[in-house]
Amino acid sequence: MRDILAPEADRWRRLVSTFAGLVEGAAYQFVMTPLMEDAEVFARVGEATDVVQKEMYRFTDNGGRDLALRPEFTASVCRAFVEQRPPTPWKVWMAGSNFRYERPQRGRFRQFDQVDIEVLGSDDPYVDVEVIALGWRFLRVLGLRRVELLLNSLGEVAERAHYVDALSEYFGAHADTLSEASRQTLARNPLRVLDSKRPGDAELIAAAPTIAEFYGPRSAAHFDTVRAGLDQLAIPYRVAPGLVRGLDYYVRTAFEFAGGTLDSAQNALGGGGRYDGLVESLGGPPTPGIGFALGVDRILIACDDEGVFAPTEPELDAYVIDTTGGAEALAITEELRQAGLRAGRVFDGRSMKAQMKSADRSGAAFAVIVGTSELDAGQAVIRPLRRDERSQSVVARLDLVSSLTTAIESES
Ligand code: AMP
Repeated sequence: MRDILAPEADRWRRLVSTFAGLVEGAAYQFVMTPLMEDAEVFARVGEATDVVQKEMYRFTDNGGRDLALRPEFTASVCRAFVEQRPPTPWKVWMAGSNFRYERPQRGRFRQFDQVDIEVLGSDDPYVDVEVIALGWRFLRVLGLRRVELLLNSLGEVAERAHYVDALSEYFGAHADTLSEASRQTLARNPLRVLDSKRPGDAELIAAAPTIAEFYGPRSAAHFDTVRAGLDQLAIPYRVAPGLVRGLDYYVRTAFEFAGGTLDSAQNALGGGGRYDGLVESLGGPPTPGIGFALGVDRILIACDDEGVFAPTEPELDAYVIDTTGGAEALAITEELRQAGLRAGRVFDGRSMKAQMKSADRSGAAFAVIVGTSELDAGQAVIRPLRRDERSQSVVARLDLVSSLTTAIESES
């Protein structure tokens, strides 16, 4: 878990507001769910997954409740849907921290942030296309270019189950050639063996049965429409039959945005898929759903690697220097801020020289200076800080806001 300070924290917020602009422009509503849930909410949706089995921050509170910090958003959104029953299709977006007890490394943290969208109540394949396209668009808007969209369909529940049986049989028959770690995965969740990045397993995985052999006509048609929709929007993708994703509730569409600059174990900038059975498993009516989560921490690492979406310092319009005791600076900053200008000042009655230094460091466009003579004459000095200082002007104190506004406009 990390402290995130300026300018990184500011970039973080910009990323979330860029995301908000994009998804709110596509009619997704912002929602917030609690940071912790009844641990069962997560346990019920991901029994066989590492995220739930090994990585949850699970604890008993003072009232004896079995709680967990959320390791992801989707289960919480579905739980909220079951309790609140909003009209469908329910299109929502979220942003915030999730917690997983993983081994920390570059791109993998125990507290990490995600931005997320979910759509509940429609199984139209064009919803899948909209969701995937928004994720793709967002990464492009940030400036990322080395991103690959991986796409798969895991079939419907029964097809997926047949496939899991076939995989279990296949890997079981070749268990002696599998790595020890994959043998353990096989016992818990045969699909996840396909995720193994161990070189020894590669050949066996390449020759394993593929899910496409198990599609029925409905899931095949759904997948065809999703692909045709992405083609229509000219969004490039690669069909990746081995893409199963970490959470085991996905059916039909599954996708991932792989970053080109990160180590393969951490290269997923985000991903998602359909989870048509999830709401029902949490006690709600049968309700299809689809969504994605994108990892903010990891996206920002990818942005650094690609040299895009750089951190910026917040800019001030004015920095107020007052050598008469500080009350003038109090009045002026208040006036400027009420007029919508961004203004800073010095405290602690520093010398003129020290205050000028702070003003220079602040990166503000102008210094507003008030000394005893200006105070007596009802005036203030406006001095540009980003160019020749001799062009400073003396203005009437009463006209300060309008004079400064004019100066700012002529500067930009
Ligand atoms: P998931 O919920 O596992 O599908 O993860 C979605 C995205 O969240 C991943 O692609 C990562 O970008 C991000 N993510 C997941 N776990 C972590 C973590 N431990 N540290 C940083 N980012 C993570």
